[in-house]
Amino acid sequence: MSKTNLATQFSNIFGRAPEIVTRAPGRIEFIGNHTDYNGGTVLGASIDRGVAVALARRTDGKRNFHSTYTHQTVTLTAGEPAKQSGDSSWTNYPLGVLAALPHFGLSVIEGFDYLADSDLPTGAGLSSSAAIELASALAFLGATGQTADRETVVKIGKHAENHFVGVPCGILDQGVSGFGKSGHLVFIDCAGPRFATVPMPAGASFWIFNTHTKHALVDGLYEARHRECMTAARALGVKWLVEVTPEALLAAQAKIEPTAFKRARHVVEEIARVAETVDALKTGNIDKVGSLLTASHRSSQRLFENSTAELDFLVDTLVASPGVYGARLTGGGFGGAVMALAGAGFGAAQAEAVAAAYAAKFGARPDILPMGTGDGAVVL
Ligand code: ADP
Ligand code: MG
Repeated sequence: MSKTNLATQFSNIFGRAPEIVTRAPGRIEFIGNHTDYNGGTVLGASIDRGVAVALARRTDGKRNFHSTYTHQTVTLTAGEPAKQSGDSSWTNYPLGVLAALPHFGLSVIEGFDYLADSDLPTGAGLSSSAAIELASALAFLGATGQTADRETVVKIGKHAENHFVGVPCGILDQGVSGFGKSGHLVFIDCAGPRFATVPMPAGASFWIFNTHTKHALVDGLYEARHRECMTAARALGVKWLVEVTPEALLAAQAKIEPTAFKRARHVVEEIARVAETVDALKTGNIDKVGSLLTASHRSSQRLFENSTAELDFLVDTLVASPGVYGARLTGGGFGGAVMALAGAGFGAAQAEAVAAAYAAKFGARPDILPMGTGDGAVVL
C-alpha cells in the first residue's frame, strides 16, 4: 500500500492522478474491553496494516467511490447525503465523515473521485471501519486545504460511526488509529478524552487469529451491551460506570438487575486491569501483563458474555502454548479475532499448531496474522 502503488491503481480506475493519498492503521484492542463508552480507560496498539485512500476533486459535483474491497464504483452526487444500503453500504463510512465535518466547523468537499485500498481484514475486530474513517477524513480535509488537529480528526471519525453508520462505539478505535506510534501502545482516558503512548515491552509481539466467525456489531449485540451498561450506571446514580470502584459495585449489587450487574462488573474490573497493565508495562513485568490479558478474556467469557466457543478455544490453546504471555478476544467480541502477546518461544510453527487444533475442532482454519505496531493516520 505504498503511495506510488495507490496512485497507479487510482489512475487505472479514474484515468488521472490523485491529488492526495492518506493512510490510517487498524488497531488491536490490547486491554480495556467495552470500557470506552463507559468513560473508562483502554490500551490499544496501532498496527502495521490499514486502509489507504486516494482522492482527486471533480468540478461536476459527482462523487465516485471505489474500493478494492468490493471492486465496485458507487456514483453519488453532492447534496445526496442519504445512507446507503446493500452493496454500497461501505460508502456510509466516507459519507459519514462528510456528514460529520460541518459539526466541527469544517467545510465539505463537493465532487471527487475516491479510492480506498486495504491490507486489513474487515469485520475481524481490527477496526477497518476506524481506519477508513480516518484515512477518508484526512483526504477530504487535505484536498480542500483544511487542517485539523489529531484529536478533531479522531472525533470526526467517531462522529461518522456513531451518527451516520449508527454504531455506538466509544473512542478507542479512532483514538488508536489517530494517535498510534510504532513501538508503542496508545493509552486513552476516554472521559477526557486524553491520549498518551506507552512503550511496548521489548521482545514481545502480537499474533492475531481471525476466526471469520460473525462479528455482529451492527446487528444489535453491541447495542444491547451498551444499553445494559447504561442501565447499571443509572441504577447506581452515576453517568458512567468509570465513577464506580469494583468494591462499590459489589456493595450495590442488590440495586442492579442481575444481567446489568454482570456487565457492569466486567467493565469496572476491566478498568482496574487497565491501570494494573500500565503499571506492569512501566516496570517491565511482561508475565503480569500477559496474565492480565488472559484475565480480561475470562471476564468477557463469564461476565460480559461477548465471547464465543471459537474464541474461548483459541485462548485456551494459546495460553497452553510455549512462549505465550497471555491471550484474549480483541475488539467488540461475538466472534472475530483473538490476540496473543508472545515472546521468542512462539513462532510460525507454534501458531500453525494452534490453527490445526482449531481446524480439527471447528472444521475451518483461522487466519494467522503476525502483527507489528505501526504509526497513526497520516497524509502520505
Ligand atoms: P471492523 O471495524 O472490526 O473491521 P466493522 O463492521 O466495524 O468491522 O467495519 C467493517 C466495515 O468497514 C466493512 O463491512 C466495510 O463496510 C467498511 N470497510 C472497511 N475497510 C474498507 C475498505 N477498504 N473499503 C471499503 N469499505 C471498507
Ligand atoms: Mg469497526
